[in-house]
Amino acid sequence: MKPTKSHGRLSISATLKPRELMTDKPELQGAWMAKVITLFPQAFPGVLGQSLTGKALDKGLWQLQPIDLRQFGEGKHRNVDDTPTGGGAGMVLRADIMGDALDHAAHGTPDDRAEWPIVFLSPRGKPMTQKMAQRFSKARGMTLICGRFEGLDQRVIDHYAIEEVSLGDFVMTGGEIAAQALIDATVRLIPGVLGNEASTEEESFSDGLLEHPQFTKPPVWRGHEVPPVLLSGNHGAIDKWRQAQSEQVTKERRPDLWNAYTTDDPGNKQ
Ligand code: SAH
Repeated sequence: MKPTKSHGRLSISATLKPRELMTDKPELQGAWMAKVITLFPQAFPGVLGQSLTGKALDKGLWQLQPIDLRQFGEGKHRNVDDTPTGGGAGMVLRADIMGDALDHAAHGTPDDRAEWPIVFLSPRGKPMTQKMAQRFSKARGMTLICGRFEGLDQRVIDHYAIEEVSLGDFVMTGGEIAAQALIDATVRLIPGVLGNEASTEEESFSDGLLEHPQFTKPPVWRGHEVPPVLLSGNHGAIDKWRQAQSEQVTKERRPDLWNAYTTDDPGNKQ
């Protein structure tokens, strides 16, 4: 067999399993669902099909429905974009095409945005936070729009009361990676997805601070020792050390978080 052919076969079998995970679970009514409007539905579940999120998808703790924007496109070429009104570089996703995709996605979902948020991944959006992930995880599901090109016609964002969410102050070529990041952060907060529930309570951001550094075996590695307090077995001392480390690292790296932590609700602090 020619190497090119065997590559083709490999890639087919690699995409078949995720498709099964996405579609063959009609009995899972009620599980948190992400509907993702994208020009690249084959990019899903992507990394979400791996590890804990993948196992949870398989078990039906959450569901994923990629929606191919192209099928709503116009004409022979199923066009979804056009030049920016007023001129300028690049192409913009059309309001009418995205509107049809959103109407399709709305089937069987509540109109209340608190129960079913619609998010457009965009560098112009509010920066993604742990608080947002918590809010999204408490909804019944959500619809995500992955942009491409120069973005999306503003009228569709306004008309559907769409939230814009950014992964950070940088620009990617499309919203698919951002959507997967948002879904990952959200799905891991759904009960049962992580083996150890306590781990979401102690980690970065949950109390407004970054997490303390972590160590594991061996106790001495290339001459570097783990902090002795962690080997002391004294849990009071360990907690105190970790809290102090959390505060120090937050102060150094994230003055914005530190400022909020020290000025916000005093009940937040230990
Ligand atoms: N012209 C736009 C950038 C378009 S990038 C601007 O200057 O704001 C193309 C698409 O990639 C966007 O529509 C969005 O869906 C996605 N994208 C790029 N960077 C992103 C980020 N930091 N966070 C979330 N989505 C992003």
